[in-house]
Amino acid sequence: MQGILGRIVENNAELAGLLAAVAADVAPQIGTGRVADYIPALARVDPRRFGMAIVACSGASAFTGDGEAPFSIQSVSKVFTLTLALGRVGDALWRRVGREPSGSPFNSIVQLEHERGIPRNPLINAGALVVTDAILARRRPEIAIAEILAYLRELSDDPTVNVDREVAKSEADTGFRNASLANFIKAFGNLDNPVASVLETYFNQCALAMSCRQLARAGLFLANRGVDPVGGQRIVDEEAARRINAIMMTCGHYDASGDFAFRVGLPGKSGVGGGILAIAPRRAAIAVWAPGLNSAGNSLVGSLALESLARRTGWSVF
Ligand code: GLU
Repeated sequence: MQGILGRIVENNAELAGLLAAVAADVAPQIGTGRVADYIPALARVDPRRFGMAIVACSGASAFTGDGEAPFSIQSVSKVFTLTLALGRVGDALWRRVGREPSGSPFNSIVQLEHERGIPRNPLINAGALVVTDAILARRRPEIAIAEILAYLRELSDDPTVNVDREVAKSEADTGFRNASLANFIKAFGNLDNPVASVLETYFNQCALAMSCRQLARAGLFLANRGVDPVGGQRIVDEEAARRINAIMMTCGHYDASGDFAFRVGLPGKSGVGGGILAIAPRRAAIAVWAPGLNSAGNSLVGSLALESLARRTGWSVF
């Protein structure tokens, strides 16, 4: 179906109308799904929150509901650390992490043993730990955390973006699985930095608190071949942008990545905080937040909202 927005979108009112229609589509489902409870600070979030924002390559934007409320972006951060690491070490990164869908849950350890400490892709926890290690580059965690935070502030064009230290601490206190993954990778010689430094940096990057509006703005360069269409700066080269989109499409929703491609058809990355960043190439970046998760750990209502948006706009890449 060719949607109403099958051209470059330049109009705030049109985008606001689109989001209002999507919000109405998912209204009956709001509050469904299960909030992640393995990180205690996330378990306290109200499952009835719902926000969505869209920023178009033209600079037009709109948001709905809780679209300006900060939430824990969790694994959506992996898109930005991947971008940062590719800028820092380039293709050498692919010697340390693969680019195939894992078909496994986000925190699975079994594959790592078979694949001798080379994680399947940079968007599962094991792969993201290797990416974080590449960013750390033998510096102190505070320095790398400050760099990641500054990067997100720059990309979102908003100096108020911050790390929620309570979430970071909550995750550090309970992150035994991530500690296992990091130790395992270290045992295979695929971490340069101390395990504790990698984990501290990783927990802080996952604890970045951003609103849908900030997140969509930060991801906009991925919709525009690596160049921020509003500010004009090149963030990554065109090839890297294409590859990051490909990895988001094939690996961005863990073992439900195929289902997301089937239903939505856009590169996307989810986080257990209930956020999803989706990219409509040449058109827009979209962020949605609804804390209740489905059984694969992806936002239940967020996925439905993106499915509705894709259907209404015809923006699926397929
Ligand atoms: N910080 C979370 C963890 O490592 C991220 C998982 C996710 O968002 O999928 O468990």
